[in-house]
Amino acid sequence: MRIEIATLFPEMCEAVLGESIIGRARKSGAIQLNCRQIREYTQDKHRRVDDTPYGGGMGMVMQCEPVYNCYKAVCEQIGTKPHTIYMSPKGTIFNQKKAEELSQMENIFIICGHYEGIDQRIIDKIVDEEISVGDYVLTGGELPAMVLVDSVARMCPGVLSDAECYREESIYSGLLEYPHYTRPEIWEGEAVPAVLLSGHHKNIEKWRHEQSLEITARRRPDLMEKYKENIKKI
Ligand code: SAM
Repeated sequence: MRIEIATLFPEMCEAVLGESIIGRARKSGAIQLNCRQIREYTQDKHRRVDDTPYGGGMGMVMQCEPVYNCYKAVCEQIGTKPHTIYMSPKGTIFNQKKAEELSQMENIFIICGHYEGIDQRIIDKIVDEEISVGDYVLTGGELPAMVLVDSVARMCPGVLSDAECYREESIYSGLLEYPHYTRPEIWEGEAVPAVLLSGHHKNIEKWRHEQSLEITARRRPDLMEKYKENIKKI
C-alpha cells in the first residue's frame, strides 16, 4: 500500500509516522508513506496557499491550485488516480470497518485542510470521500490523518506480526476486548484473576469471552445489540 499525505505541516506528520510500528513498517517496505508540503506546489512567489473567502466571513480558505498540482504530481508518479480522501468534520465518521476497507486499497491520497478548510471546487473535482474522526472540530487535518493512517496501516500485511493481533481486538471482533494483566502476580494487594494463572486454555478463553460480553454490555449497549443480531444470523 502507498499513502500520500498532502499537508501544510509535513514535519508534524513525519514526527508521528516515523516512529514505532508504522515507522518500522515504512523502513521494512511493508507500507510506503510520503508527506508532501502543499506549499511546494503553489505558483505564488510568496508560497501562499490560502485566500479570503468569497462572500465574506471569518478566516481563510485553502486554494484549489496547490492541492490540485500536488494531486497531479502524485498521479503522475504512481501512474494512476489514488483513492482520494479529504479529512473533514463534515465527512462520514471513521470506524474500524472503514479502516479495513481502506487497508485493501493500493493507493491513497489524503488531503489535510487548515483554516476554514479547502475550496469546494477541489473537493468536487478529486475527492472520493470526506472522512471525519468525530463530532468535534480540530485546527487541521493532520491529527485526523494520523489516526486514519495508523489504524489502516496496522491492518496491512507485514505491519503487525500476526493478523490475529487486530482480529481479537476491541471493535474488530464486534465486542470490546477483555482486560489484560502482566507481572507481578500481586500488585498493591491486587491479584491477577486466578484463571489466567491456571494454564487451562479453554477456561481462559471462556473467561475472556465472558469479560468481553460483560464490558461491552455495560459500556456499549449499541455494540452489544449488533453483536446479538449477528450471532442470530450465524
Ligand atoms: N470550517 C470547517 C467546518 O466548520 O466544517 C472546519 C475547518 S477546521 C478548523 C480545519 C481543518 O481541520 C479541516 O479542513 C479538516 O481538514 C480538519 N478537521 C477538523 N476537524 C476534523 C474532524 N473532526 N475530522 C477530520 N478532519 C477535521
